[in-house]
Amino acid sequence: MDTQQTIELFDKYVIANYGRLPRVIVKGQNGYLYDADGNEILDMFPGWAVSGIGHCHPKVVAAIKEQAEKLLHIDNTFYSEPQGVLAKMLSERGFGGKCFFCNSGAEANEAALKLARLHTASEKYKFITAEGSFHGRTFATVTATAQPKYHEGFLPLIPGFSYVPFNDIEALEKAFTDEVAAVMVEPIQGEGGINVADSEYLRTIRRLCDENNALMVLDEVQTGIGRTGKWFGYQHFDVVPDIITMAKALGGGVAIGAMMAAPEVAASLIPGKHASTFGGNALACAASIATLEAIEEENLLENAQKIGNYAMEKLNQLAQKHAAIDHVRGIGMMIGVQLSSDGSEIVAKCLERGLRINCTNQTVIRFMPAMIATAEQIDKAIEIFDSVLSEATG
Ligand SMILES: *Cc1c(COP(=O)(O)O)cnc(C)c1O
Repeated sequence: MDTQQTIELFDKYVIANYGRLPRVIVKGQNGYLYDADGNEILDMFPGWAVSGIGHCHPKVVAAIKEQAEKLLHIDNTFYSEPQGVLAKMLSERGFGGKCFFCNSGAEANEAALKLARLHTASEKYKFITAEGSFHGRTFATVTATAQPKYHEGFLPLIPGFSYVPFNDIEALEKAFTDEVAAVMVEPIQGEGGINVADSEYLRTIRRLCDENNALMVLDEVQTGIGRTGKWFGYQHFDVVPDIITMAKALGGGVAIGAMMAAPEVAASLIPGKHASTFGGNALACAASIATLEAIEEENLLENAQKIGNYAMEKLNQLAQKHAAIDHVRGIGMMIGVQLSSDGSEIVAKCLERGLRINCTNQTVIRFMPAMIATAEQIDKAIEIFDSVLSEATG
């Protein structure tokens, strides 16, 4: 089937709820994508941060093959070894919490919100989230997502959510009442445009939650599993949350989500209160275990820091050269280039030249290479980005 035929299938049979680029991807390997017309694309935004250790990592592929021959899925009526092993690995790399498994970021956040309600006193039903956040598309998580554009057409939303400007300590203090069950924020806002939390801000959330018997929930769906150069984004800050959620890069390309909660909080999630049919299935857990092992065996946390810094340095040099770039921000392999105007055209032009990047919030280019990225790949990406910017500004 050629590109046009595939697109025709979509036009007829797939709901058109995404703005898609006119490419059909047939293969992904390491830091590259290949389309149906034989083009190679350097991927600096692999799978919206899902392919965190690159496309089709051989260790993950091998683990999937091996597990697939033994057991694909077993429901949570039984125990299965991969789920237990994965929970232990995450707990040891996080804050010693216990895990609940699901299949996506929104589901992980949904679980966190429900657990916060269950664990705290019955009068506590409110949640505080930050403007510019993104927490998912289910009714509760889209309500938590404090961006009006995601709410249009869905009013009334779930009651009890209040929104405060990100990194604004005073606003947070004002918003806190006895009825707050939890505060949920991203340590680095992803869709909101790579906005890094201040340490002081996160420490204030921790203090206010402690003082008010509320829970501190960090959405690590995008920041988690090594992208920032540490296992979890919160580890860059002097703070320990009660709950973190993760998904995206967790399965090395396979759908899996997880919520990790401190043991005393986790104890409130008793049988009958929450569940997921596919959650923690053997195949996804095996892929996830292999992903975490690959990160360790190949020193990818270190590489994410090193290559991330290298990319940031190169992008800062471009910022000196091009007035179109206001500034560059981020940590590790989570980098935002703040433009002074809309970036969608730049993204389209880069793709024409074989580079995939992303534009979020209209004016922020996201460079989020896989943790296996090399300096040579960054150089190539910078070269293409540079040439497109030069052309755009004449
Ligand atoms: C992508 C994302 C989500 C939603 O994850 P889905 O798997 O699409 O449900 C939630 N929070 C953050 C921070 C994300 O980046």
